[in-house]
Amino acid sequence: MKIEAKELSKVYGKGESQVMALNRVSFQIMPGDFISITGPSGSGKSTLLHLLSGLDEPTGGCLTYDGKEIYSFSDQERSAFRRRSIGFVFQQFHLLPVLTAQENILMPLLLDKKQPDETYLKQLSQMLGIDSRLSHLPHELSGGQQQRVAIARALIAKPDIIFADEPTGNLDTKSGREVMELLRAIHEKMGKTLVVITHDNRVAGMADRRFSIVDGVLTEVDER
Ligand code: ADP
Ligand code: MG
Repeated sequence: MKIEAKELSKVYGKGESQVMALNRVSFQIMPGDFISITGPSGSGKSTLLHLLSGLDEPTGGCLTYDGKEIYSFSDQERSAFRRRSIGFVFQQFHLLPVLTAQENILMPLLLDKKQPDETYLKQLSQMLGIDSRLSHLPHELSGGQQQRVAIARALIAKPDIIFADEPTGNLDTKSGREVMELLRAIHEKMGKTLVVITHDNRVAGMADRRFSIVDGVLTEVDER
């Protein structure tokens, strides 16, 4: 899917305490792109990701997926669209502690009342190296394993797009590198569009297109 943001803005609060978290962001993400977005803390990275994925609404501008304005959808339509088209990976993993790895992975399908595809689950967990960990609870797994479970959960509904917000932020260097290599493989082999938000320049450098954001203003970084 082609994603197009036009003059996307987000203002939080009113009057004196107003914060312009995102300032007229315009850009396009083409199907199969691998994009990184870097910026200091508070620069608007998470806000941008929330708007791009339809988790939150902008105060200005518009956002289309294949030409369809997603903020014209009802809340219900928008969450259904999100469940089917977008996978999320977060810094804090966000696994449910009382569910096993497998139950966590299958959760998005449960929410969408869909049957799990056993073959695909097996394929995913092998690719992510967690096939022997599926019956474990999150606290029985290392950080890297928990993030790989979260990646499997992000992929289980076969979305076109993966949004990752600081996916290596809670991991040691080695596990972080493994997680990024896996995300890159998912982008290359499965053809998923990948948008990674990161503090880490090495992570950002793996992307095909790099953007930076400062005070809510997004600019593409020219490599040359
Ligand atoms: P980043 O992810 O780059 O650290 P954020 O997108 O979380 O930055 O935040 C951008 C700016 O918007 C910051 O100044 C932050 O304090 C502010 N902000 C974020 N979320 C809210 C909110 N829900 N209410 C008010 N201000 C917010
Ligand atoms: Mg953030």
